[in-house]
Amino acid sequence: MFDTIIIGAGFAGSVLAERLATQNNKRVLVIDKRRHIGGNCYDRYDDHGILIHQYGPHLFHTDNQSVFDYLGQFTQWRPYQHEVLGFIDGQKVPVPFNLNSLHALLPESLAASLEKKLIARFGYGMKVPILELREIDDAELKFLADFIYEKIFVNYTAKQWGKLPEEISAEVTGRVPVFISRDNRYFQDKYQAVPALGYTRIFETMLDHANISVMLNTHFKDVFTLDLESGAMQLMGSEFEGELIFTGLIDELFERRFGELPYRSLDFQFEHLPCAQYQEKTTINYPNDYDFTRITEFKHISQQSIAGTSIVKEFPQAFERDNPLKNIPYYPIFTEENKAILDRYLAFAEKFERVTLVGRLAENRYYDMDDIVARALAVFADKFADY
Ligand code: UDP
Repeated sequence: MFDTIIIGAGFAGSVLAERLATQNNKRVLVIDKRRHIGGNCYDRYDDHGILIHQYGPHLFHTDNQSVFDYLGQFTQWRPYQHEVLGFIDGQKVPVPFNLNSLHALLPESLAASLEKKLIARFGYGMKVPILELREIDDAELKFLADFIYEKIFVNYTAKQWGKLPEEISAEVTGRVPVFISRDNRYFQDKYQAVPALGYTRIFETMLDHANISVMLNTHFKDVFTLDLESGAMQLMGSEFEGELIFTGLIDELFERRFGELPYRSLDFQFEHLPCAQYQEKTTINYPNDYDFTRITEFKHISQQSIAGTSIVKEFPQAFERDNPLKNIPYYPIFTEENKAILDRYLAFAEKFERVTLVGRLAENRYYDMDDIVARALAVFADKFADY
């Protein structure tokens, strides 16, 4: 009945479902354990009519025109440039830390001297990961690096990951580099926008095709089996001879045979407030205060003219597979030790010719939305174009 089973209805699964259905006329079954499509990009109107992101703020940004154009088939875009402030020593300053943050937090003569040195050493407009800046041999710049490390990174990272910045892949803190610029935007990508009718609508449009069936509220293990010896697959008790595209937890697909990969979870606490606006920018980070890492106010994203406002606070927490309050694996934890486990899973996966792993959880990569769309399109072109 189906040519392809796709497990997971986030971007990885939905893009591949759309491509296989529309380009290759394949019959696709998409299975997701949640009651909705869209994975963690899912957004919805809350009880007060405000468009909220149920699994935390998602801001689309990319330099990849083909990704932007591809998604543009499923949505109109509204230009949106994300800005974040960090609450540091009682002030709110731009994050990533930039020249404006420098002048706000340090005495003027020191800030002016540091600015000159930064520009001379790296060049205006350059981005320097904090762990790199800390390696520097100049005493004044080293002072600045340690200051930024202490004020912006070390406590936020302790909350977010339960680790020091140097204990996780440099790629993680490298996402928010020190920016030698007066540009206060969080991203500098060429295309920055939000879907005019929300993310969920993109997924509805992508999956609305006669060749695509979507089965929600269904854990894949309840309807599907993969024999780890022979590679044989069964769907609802019958032999399945097609392809499997898996976007879930790689260790779950392979029955944790090489151990559990660790993930980090979050508890999102939403609040609705009677005021028109709660904070001056979409997101305020609190590296050193409170138990949450950041507060996001959704009206800055949705641009709705509506009374009241809705915000969300993000409380990082340990991931616990069997605890329904803690079992959403938002982030793989990127350490050397975990990489070794992942490599064993990836090598094992090679044996299964009809199984393709795609996505943040299946590949254990810190993919942004544009990355995963690009990755799914590349997988389609490389593996399924002639399928
Ligand atoms: N980070 C930090 N302080 C900040 C912002 C980010 O220490 O104010 C670090 C932290 O380790 C975080 C990482 O940079 O996990 C990546 O931040 P990003 O905002 O990209 O995370 P995401 O939005 O994906 O959760």
